[in-house]
Order: sequence, then C-alpha cells, then structure tokens
Amino acid sequence: MDWNPWIKENLHCCSCGGSLQDSEHINIICLDKLATWQYPRWGNVLVHEKYPMNRASAILCDRCIQEKQPAKYAVEWNNERTQVKYHKVEDLKDLPQIPHEEIAKAEAELYDFGIEEPSSEM
Ligand SMILES: [Zn+2]
Repeated sequence: MDWNPWIKENLHCCSCGGSLQDSEHINIICLDKLATWQYPRWGNVLVHEKYPMNRASAILCDRCIQEKQPAKYAVEWNNERTQVKYHKVEDLKDLPQIPHEEIAKAEAELYDFGIEEPSSEM
C-alpha cells in the first residue's frame, strides 16, 4: 500500500513544521531515540534481539534535507491513522547507535548455514 499520499496530506515536516505537499520525497529519518509509541518504529531486523525495533522516526521535507536541518520532532500515529502526534526529540530517551559491525556480523551469520554455533551464549 502506498502511504505517501496519506503522509503528505496529514503530516508536517518534523523540522520546519511546514507542509509536505510540495515535497517531492518523503524523507524518513531514523532517530536513535526510544519510541514509547507503536507506530512508526524502526530497527534492524538482523539485530532486533539485541536492539529491539523501538526507535523513533521523523519525516522531513526536501528543503530541510537539502539544508541538512536536524529533526526537531519525532512523529507518532495511531493504528487507524486518525491521529498524529509530535514528540520533541530532545525529550526522548537516547538509545545507542546500532554499530555497523554488528549488522555486518549478523548478516554474515545469516548467510553462514554451514556452521552451527550455540546461540544461547549471546
Ligand atoms: Zn522542513
């Protein structure tokens, strides 16, 4: 399903607060901040046991992306997508960045079917 029209119609840029109607792209920024809500959240499926899918995200307009503006708000919507809320990024709890090495390692394990390792030690 194509969410872009709904996003453009109902959300504001999480940096400048402007409309997304004129924005060509929906720029989703993944924040290393704890999302205390359900939608939307992100994470890396490969390392989700260690880093749960509980991170907040923000949506920025093209102009803010071009100007490298930071996200000021994280966005939340409900399951029915009838309500949208914005949370100040500075009020959210920091989460550690997911290190690239860990993702690479998880990826390597994923494709390494030949060797069995005890996974309970993690
Ligand atoms: Zn903007």
